[in-house]
Amino acid sequence: MTKTPLFPATIAGSLPKPGWLSEKEKLWAPWRLEGELLEEGKRDAVSLVLHDQERAGIDIVSDGEQTRQHFVTSFIEALDGIDFEHKKTVRIRDRYDADVPVVVGPVSRPRPVNVEYARFLAQSTDRSTKFTLPGPMTMVDTLADEYYGSREALAWEFARALNAEARELEAAGIDVIQFDEPAFNVFFDDVRAWGVQTLERAAEGLSCKTAVHICYGYGVKANIEWKKTLGEEWRQYEHVFPLLQLSSIDQVSLECRNSRVPMELIELLRGKDVLVGAIDVATNEVETPEQVAETLRKALDYVAPEHLYPCTNCGMVPLPRDVARRKLHALGAGAALLRSEFR
Ligand SMILES: [Zn+2]
Repeated sequence: MTKTPLFPATIAGSLPKPGWLSEKEKLWAPWRLEGELLEEGKRDAVSLVLHDQERAGIDIVSDGEQTRQHFVTSFIEALDGIDFEHKKTVRIRDRYDADVPVVVGPVSRPRPVNVEYARFLAQSTDRSTKFTLPGPMTMVDTLADEYYGSREALAWEFARALNAEARELEAAGIDVIQFDEPAFNVFFDDVRAWGVQTLERAAEGLSCKTAVHICYGYGVKANIEWKKTLGEEWRQYEHVFPLLQLSSIDQVSLECRNSRVPMELIELLRGKDVLVGAIDVATNEVETPEQVAETLRKALDYVAPEHLYPCTNCGMVPLPRDVARRKLHALGAGAALLRSEFR
């Protein structure tokens, strides 16, 4: 691991996959390979996105989720107690319907899910590495439950499974473990009652950095329509940030670029590392380095320089590869620009 500079650039999560690995520009796209070839293909794709990130000046690199079909279900698939054969239609994030797996018995993690991929990532780069997992509440909100009868009870079970996985990811050499909790932007009462506690349970005992990513979703139609209903100012973070500020989680990843989130809400996170989304993932228009630096400068009114991490708003998996690559470069160059002003 190399020493990280001031304003270490990182990404929220996913990057587009090569067309030979899965269908392009599509969420949940099925694999084009199978068996041994699929495993080899996933690792080759990780090598490609690592190269792209390193070339772009991204300091804390990730596998771009090249080894996963979906950020939640790919983890759930590996657990016991869940029926993937007889899916049910449920409403997700209060926003759209999806066919999801069903909890039919006690959930447990019989074996590591991502640990070998994490080891491959850590061994393939000299840079600091990040690995993303779904958060307990977002997992609960991405399936149907016919066993526990309580979202909270199920969340605690998922938190236990996530914690076992996270501890092994850390042992495999990962420097930052991030939990994705888009559901935190929707279910404020649950966040307060048990969301942050179950998240802390998932991160319990880790000595690496821990992060939570809370966003307004990928740039897909249902999310764009939802955002239109949120009014002139998006103040969802106002419910969650004070709770996270008091939590054991080290870093918070949020969206800022082209978003109506008032920048001053960052103040509510004082003392935490803030991963400021300076790249909009809902447009193919590529930011300039100056635009990236501009977003980061605005954030600096509310966060100390040593706590500012330039980042993307969300995952880039649905974008064309060349657009994502150019956005990565803009992010790295924007971070470098800001850094040059602090010498
Ligand atoms: Zn996101």
